[in-house]
Amino acid sequence: DGAGGRNEREVAPPGVDITVAHSARVYDWWLGGTDNFAVDRAVGAAFAEAIPDIRTMARENRRFLDRVVDHLVREAGVRQFLDIGSGIPTSPNLHEVAQRTTADARVVYVDNDPIVLAHSRALIRDSGAGATEYIHADLRDPASILADPVLARTLDLGQPVALMLVAMLMLIADEDDPWGTSRELMDALPPGSYVVITHPGQDFDPAAMAKVVGAAGRGGMTLVPRDRAGVERFFADWELVEPGVVPVLAWRPDGPPPADPNAAYYWAGVARKPG
Ligand code: SAM
Repeated sequence: DGAGGRNEREVAPPGVDITVAHSARVYDWWLGGTDNFAVDRAVGAAFAEAIPDIRTMARENRRFLDRVVDHLVREAGVRQFLDIGSGIPTSPNLHEVAQRTTADARVVYVDNDPIVLAHSRALIRDSGAGATEYIHADLRDPASILADPVLARTLDLGQPVALMLVAMLMLIADEDDPWGTSRELMDALPPGSYVVITHPGQDFDPAAMAKVVGAAGRGGMTLVPRDRAGVERFFADWELVEPGVVPVLAWRPDGPPPADPNAAYYWAGVARKPG
């Protein structure tokens, strides 16, 4: 069964379809989690056949998330996070990283996967005090996220918010206009807000990526790697912070510079809303 855990029961929780692969569960398997099913592991293994280091890459994406949250809290004074496509809880979760640096950090998670919903309820109950909340919604319907009373109750949209779109925009097909939908959320945030994006890159190893896209399609999953220009487009007219849109390993590494910054196939960038 490879690395990672396994859900021995293979019994679908209510509302969970285990006949098609789900990105949250494939990613959970790569990270060593147990909330995945045979169909997810099959797709995850097919990805790993094309890109043997894919688990390391997923971990590097998580490490970036920790680095960037730490940076935004310490250096940019951000206190509020809207994390869309938050995923199955892992360790550490975004709110843990933020709240360990500043006790007053507020976090709203958003995801559209029923397994994430089930876990997030438990996580929110345990974290208490209304500082960490969850909205079950779809990025493709940004108005429903913005209108959700949980958002207004948890975040002050008059103060800067970091919009996190980390390893999730590749799950939105071009025809669903991921640029337009993310822009709608960006437009709702005040100046001084940030948007944080990582995105699997089409341009690191196009042949391997083509295999992965094929495996995803056979598993019933949408996966759209994009090139650097396609990822840069998400930031629109917001001001990219140094070092711009770069391979995830090259975004402000907290140790020595990586020997090969192109070893993880994700683009990463952070931008600030001007004004
Ligand atoms: N952001 C986390 C991270 O980087 O560690 C998790 C990334 S995981 C690969 C992608 C997540 O996006 C999954 O949990 C999936 O359910 C969620 N997702 C996919 N499509 C979505 C959509 N249209 N709206 C909201 N969430 C979505």
